[in-house]
Amino acid sequence: MMLDRPVALVTGASRGIGRACAVELARSGFDIAVNYLADEAGALETVRLVEQAGGRAVALQCDVSMYDAAKHLVQCSEELLGPIEVLVGNAGITRDALLIRMSEDDWDQVLDTNLKGVYNVTKWAVRSMARRRRGRIVNISSVVALRGNPGQANYAAAKAGIIGFTKSLAKEMARYGITANVVAPGYISTDMTENLPLDVKEAFKRQIPLGRPGTPADVAYAVAFLSSPQAGYITGQVLPVDGGLSSGLIL
Ligand code: NAD
Repeated sequence: MMLDRPVALVTGASRGIGRACAVELARSGFDIAVNYLADEAGALETVRLVEQAGGRAVALQCDVSMYDAAKHLVQCSEELLGPIEVLVGNAGITRDALLIRMSEDDWDQVLDTNLKGVYNVTKWAVRSMARRRRGRIVNISSVVALRGNPGQANYAAAKAGIIGFTKSLAKEMARYGITANVVAPGYISTDMTENLPLDVKEAFKRQIPLGRPGTPADVAYAVAFLSSPQAGYITGQVLPVDGGLSSGLIL
């Protein structure tokens, strides 16, 4: 019987980077609350992989853009697995269009999911972290927040918002021993990027000094490090995981 494993809640964990974070955190000793929006089968596959990696896991449906639903998500996670020690704010979407063609709905959906979703879940999760005087928050932004990208003004705004939010939170929560950091992935091979036009994918690859797209595991290793005891003195930081894309290196 496994006792006293700390708990991590990973939003948007039915596939891609979220799933990789769930599995890597399980390997690091966490039980995992696997949040998903609609893909229950994907979430149950993540649960299976977490169990295979030695952790307990529950799949919890919740649209993180909904304030009350996010409160319920945190409550369910704590009731089923115990207090949340690590929160990974990973759920995200894109609705790409040049600004001139970007609808109000494209703007609202991307801001509501990527940025308000992070606010919603964090708002409820930090309460018990503050009471327990321990906790780690790792939010997933993007290099697009640092560089901008044509066709992604909504996404870049949301992901830049996550950086400002997390840096502020780091300062508010430091007195409770809670750290808050951002991981900013570059071009990672997932379902989100699979449907990009081939020429866009090739253009991205040419700009990556390490010469290849990242994998979900590349991002998950950084998230697991920032969630580990070894990262206890790191807070308010942005860690790009992008093969050098944002480093200013020109090959
Ligand atoms: P993905 O589309 O495979 O995964 C996103 C996950 O978020 C999905 O499981 C989806 O169901 C979930 N989700 C979407 N809306 C949700 C909602 N309202 N409530 C709960 N869950 C919701 O994409 P991914 O590439 O794995 O992206 C994961 C995160 O990494 C996202 O925040 C994305 O913006 C970010 N990111 C990805 C890349 C990349 O190149 N793939 C680069 C930078 C940042």
